[in-house]
Amino acid sequence: MAKYTDADCRLCRREGCKLFLKGERCLSGKCAMERRPTVPGQHGAQSARKKQSEYGMQLREKQKIKRYYGLLEKQFHATYETAERMKGNTGENLLQLLERRLDNVVYRMGLGESRAKCRQIVNHGHITVNGRVVDIPSFVVSAGDVVAVKEGHGDNGLFKELGKVKVTTPKWLEFDTKTLTGKINALPQRDDIDMRFAEHLVVELYSK
Ligand code: SF4
Repeated sequence: MAKYTDADCRLCRREGCKLFLKGERCLSGKCAMERRPTVPGQHGAQSARKKQSEYGMQLREKQKIKRYYGLLEKQFHATYETAERMKGNTGENLLQLLERRLDNVVYRMGLGESRAKCRQIVNHGHITVNGRVVDIPSFVVSAGDVVAVKEGHGDNGLFKELGKVKVTTPKWLEFDTKTLTGKINALPQRDDIDMRFAEHLVVELYSK
């Protein structure tokens, strides 16, 4: 019988898709979405059969994106407001801002097995941007920025997960595994985001 793993996996089951919150486990047969891809809770199966309202779909999509990037509601909404003030498509701006977060960049560089782990790496002052320590996970990188592991911090065992989880480095980012240095070649575009999101539903939700 499939057994309950932990709260992170419940989030994936609730959203009905893999959110890749637990690193290597997500790619293995132990993933809860492989073993028990049902909505958690006593009435999960029933609620999954119910037709979702328009509001329900918008809410679920917002939760999915928010949980994928590991943000709380307040942080997510603040990012949305920034996206709204930018020129262009608000939904695409939102995804671009989320991708440009320093914790996500560190994750995309493969320095940690999950965004949560990468957030911790940033918080603990192991990461520099353009040579200066930045310990704010929500820091937004720009094109041309150089993100690196702080000198002397690369060999303390913290980055032992490097290469353990297969992370495809997106084309807007280049990463040198020898020097543990990454460069933001360009700003991420919508097509560079490998997850299937319907970001327009978030815009509809917040525009009410
Ligand atoms: Fe758990 Fe990862 Fe699978 Fe999600 S993708 S259910 S976090 S193992």
